[in-house]
Amino acid sequence: MILIDGKKIAKEIREEIKNEISNFKAEGKRSPGLVVILVGDNPASEVYVRNKAKACEEVGFLSVLEKHDSSISEVKLLELIESYNKNKNFDGILVQLPLPKHIDERKVIEAISPLKDVDGFHPVSAGNLMIGNDTFFSCTPWGVQELLARYNIETEGKHVVIVGRSNIVGKPAAMILLQKKKFANAIVTVCHSAAKNISEYTTQADILIAAMGSPEFIKADMVKEGAVVIDVGTNRVEDAENPKGYRLTGDVLFNEVAPKCSYITPVPGGVGPMTIAMLLKNTLKSYKLYGN
Ligand code: NAP
Repeated sequence: MILIDGKKIAKEIREEIKNEISNFKAEGKRSPGLVVILVGDNPASEVYVRNKAKACEEVGFLSVLEKHDSSISEVKLLELIESYNKNKNFDGILVQLPLPKHIDERKVIEAISPLKDVDGFHPVSAGNLMIGNDTFFSCTPWGVQELLARYNIETEGKHVVIVGRSNIVGKPAAMILLQKKKFANAIVTVCHSAAKNISEYTTQADILIAAMGSPEFIKADMVKEGAVVIDVGTNRVEDAENPKGYRLTGDVLFNEVAPKCSYITPVPGGVGPMTIAMLLKNTLKSYKLYGN
């Protein structure tokens, strides 16, 4: 069994980006810019946003955090987004979700210019992904593909089974791995909560992607011998022995499943660190394609 080290790969990607940015700077060019918009004071969102800003600064991006009170009106938020759509110093706009109830998330996502949609959530990006055009891929599933690629794990003709059909993980993961391209071209099955006997599907997987948000749901008898298991799940479970009172766990019962796998991602340290790395890659992509 080989443990897929997402922390190491994410660091490698950040180093690659940092080197590219120093070359741009040496040529007198501006740095790529990312604005992160945070509304309200959700503690988890604050941590994510801080990590994103730190990663941007480390690679040499211009990074701005727009922190707004949860009372901001939808109109004001849309105007703010529009101002960054027009601002040539920024290549990426990210609005941290979830948003307060009085703000329509769909309107906000659609207000971001598709040319700066580095989260890949805009319907234009999702549609382009669907028909196989080059576009901004949703960062977490793109990170999954990148892990497979960097570990040289063959996907062509393999049966990929994804548990979860969210718009940010399950569905884009399916679309990315379905493409007729290298490190894709897989036969993809997507499962969700209506599956009556989920093991019927998961035991067929050459590559199993768990993205359900259900702690340690995937047990050893649900996995084929020699499968590649990618655990996207990030769940907090109570743990009295941990000083924080909780520990992070994936959707896969790691200790039981790992011995059956050819490759497996741990939680934490697997898919998690890849999301920010791919966000940086999307921002750099926007800069290169549309930024000059
Ligand atoms: P989500 O929006 O809640 O979607 C969960 C999906 O799993 C749904 O499609 C749901 O089916 C399906 N599901 C839930 N329980 C199931 C069951 N027992 N059997 C079959 N399908 C089941 O979650 P998400 O946003 O995609 O996130 C999934 C997990 O990934 C979470 O743990 C989240 O924290 C983690 N995540 C991690 C990262 C990262 O590492 N950077 C990023 C994003 C998400 P229905 O559609 O039928 O309800």
